[in-house]
Amino acid sequence: MGFWQELFPEPPLCINCGDTFVFSSLPRLCNSCLSEIELREEPFVREIEGSDSFFTLINSPLVYRGAVRSLLRSLKYDNSPEAALPLAEIMVGSSMLAKLLAGSSALVVPVPLASSRLKSRGYNQAALLAGIIASKFSLELDRNILKRPRETPPLYELSSLERKNVLSGAFSVDNSLSWKLAGREVLLVDDIITTGSTLREAGSLLAQKGAGNLLALTAAAVGKQDY
Ligand SMILES: [Zn+2]
Repeated sequence: MGFWQELFPEPPLCINCGDTFVFSSLPRLCNSCLSEIELREEPFVREIEGSDSFFTLINSPLVYRGAVRSLLRSLKYDNSPEAALPLAEIMVGSSMLAKLLAGSSALVVPVPLASSRLKSRGYNQAALLAGIIASKFSLELDRNILKRPRETPPLYELSSLERKNVLSGAFSVDNSLSWKLAGREVLLVDDIITTGSTLREAGSLLAQKGAGNLLALTAAAVGKQDY
């Protein structure tokens, strides 16, 4: 690095708006974008399709609007894994999450991607969020216990019955790791929740394989109208 660059380093660019900024309380996100972000103070409980929900609560601390919406979209569609960092940092700071995980020794499990999707995207956005959250709360993370042997099409355009059929058998549990589940609290993490079918399918399998209390956490909850 040259003398002048050392004296006047390039100011960082905000990953959301692209503006340069001098100071922000979050990595890679300017204060103006940060100020757009709204946190829910109370758990947002999404009714999960089907008669039996396996979750005690679905927690989605960020309101799907403004910078949250654009960061989640970049994370999922624009090859922008760095968007996970500010999102997870804000989630970690929510009082809802602190309450949910106080004293917990939950096993943190991200909703997996099928290997074809993982290859084309290069990363699993749910695993990035789960990794940061597990590390901040000193919880064990397991990215291998839950598998997704095949890809499923986008679910939001399907009827409830079609979703059920498409998701049937979409997940499996690695039997060599399933001992970790026995009676254990599990925190299943995904980027967003839409209908809840994916979380329900994954959660029912984890419960069947012995998991105790199941918690679900997504960055935000997305309505059909948001697509
Ligand atoms: Zn910005």
